[in-house]
Amino acid sequence: MPLLKASLPSIPGIVAARVDSAAFPQAGQGRFRRGLLAHCSNPACRSGWLHLWRSPTVPVFEDGWTCSAECTAARVGSAVAREFGGMESARPDHRHRIPLGLLMLEHGWITQSQLRRAVDAQKRAGAGRLGSWLVRQGAATESVITRALALQWSCPVLSTELHDPARVSTVIPRLFVDAFGALPLRVSAGRTLYLGFEESLDPALALSIERMTGLRVVSGIVQESCFRPAHGRLIETKFPPVELIESVSETAATRTLARCVERFRPAAARLVRVHECLWLRMWDAADPRPLHGPGKMEDVICLVGAF
Ligand SMILES: [Zn+2]
Repeated sequence: MPLLKASLPSIPGIVAARVDSAAFPQAGQGRFRRGLLAHCSNPACRSGWLHLWRSPTVPVFEDGWTCSAECTAARVGSAVAREFGGMESARPDHRHRIPLGLLMLEHGWITQSQLRRAVDAQKRAGAGRLGSWLVRQGAATESVITRALALQWSCPVLSTELHDPARVSTVIPRLFVDAFGALPLRVSAGRTLYLGFEESLDPALALSIERMTGLRVVSGIVQESCFRPAHGRLIETKFPPVELIESVSETAATRTLARCVERFRPAAARLVRVHECLWLRMWDAADPRPLHGPGKMEDVICLVGAF
């Protein structure tokens, strides 16, 4: 899967709901009345206020109930357009990062000849990371390589000591663990997610996770020999059910995602873009929590134009 190393657009507000103070029930007017006058969150809704055939509480997409499949499609369509709105202006992350070998050389952690030997070996093999070659040739220890990578990315080195796979496996779909090499490690104080990477960070993914979960994400480098076992433990854990779909266009993606919302009838649902994918997460209970919420959740990952 090609990765678009781009910063996502800033989070625009949710589509403003139409408010009619004469028709919209006020707090305390009772459940029956509230149900009868459920308010559709599609600003272009033309079906009126009475929706007796439809549950007055679900589906809810991005904090707004919709009165019909058409209105759900309109809301989902706005969200899809918002997520891809920054596509043209999106640019890969061109911030200058000093190459690992040079950085280590500058710090006196390796010599010129050790660097040359590792680069030559890497070229000859046509594979393997420079850091791995330096370790294999005895020029540096693994912990020095990890320190250098963290310095290169200006991020912390993260430990897997407090890794809690069962608790963090609901934070992101397993596909993102595999496709982007992201390793959720732990959530601290219910607010901060520590996200580990083996070699390079993925700021776009971290931002998407923040938007979806509401957690603050701290990304960092995990030492290779710790990363692999932790990764193994994580993928053996139960993840939320996920549906993977492919769409040729944003229009097709909208149609499919709206159908998913109509089928699941979520009490809460959010949509964010992760590189070329759209990630829809649906909860069957309101007040969703990023970890183990009160009910079940389901993910839909839609690859758009990936043919
Ligand atoms: Zn409507």
